[in-house]
Amino acid sequence: MPSPLEIVRVPVLSDNYAWLVHDPGSGTTMALDPGEAQPLLDAAAARGLAIGEVWNTHWHPDHVGGNAAIVAATGARVVGPEAERGKIGQLDVGLGEGDSATLGDHVAAVMTVPGHTQGHIAFHFAGDGAIFTGDTLFAMGCGRLFEGTPSDMFGNMQRYAALPPETRVYCGHEYTLSNGRYALVAEPDNAAIRERMVEVEARRAAGEPTVPTTIGAELATNPFLRARSVEELAERRQAKDVFRG
Ligand code: ZN
Ligand code: FE
Repeated sequence: MPSPLEIVRVPVLSDNYAWLVHDPGSGTTMALDPGEAQPLLDAAAARGLAIGEVWNTHWHPDHVGGNAAIVAATGARVVGPEAERGKIGQLDVGLGEGDSATLGDHVAAVMTVPGHTQGHIAFHFAGDGAIFTGDTLFAMGCGRLFEGTPSDMFGNMQRYAALPPETRVYCGHEYTLSNGRYALVAEPDNAAIRERMVEVEARRAAGEPTVPTTIGAELATNPFLRARSVEELAERRQAKDVFRG
């Protein structure tokens, strides 16, 4: 058994979460979705870690904007979706469905999860019970459909729903409060959402994060993971796009 991964949440930009992931066994460290560089460089320096890799889930600037400066400062290699190579500068290793990415002794299965962007990938460390979902699965929400269809996102949700419920979900944004306000409207009879929102509101009021979440918590409270059909997901995604909670 490899020693457990150390996963540090690094807030960047206005509401993004980047992640610093360290394998103590091998001494390897990667920065995942660095929307800007300095907070990741600082978080690594504060812990005496050297960033050796940058992993990206998709090409949006709030997830890759810090790549170049991290590479310049550390010589890190960049790992991300092969399908978005043209949009992510400096991609050293391009990955897609069925590939794996390794951090020391830890292996992440790469899932292609289209819809938010067409080439979007997620990294599933099954042995660690952790998944990095970028902008596909959020706490009580899902990503906007910029480059895909409700059917794409429904397929992603089906795959996430099948993961072990204790799997921790590390997503790309702190959107939980706004997602939860919509969830209350989408499922007014769902007591689990109401209970969760009490906690979410308290945490946010105290300036605390609500991420990571778990697959189990999302199965109980996420109206997109819980959508029973492509049509229901489509309806909910459209309603959330214009929702003003
Ligand atoms: Zn995005
Ligand atoms: Fe984003």
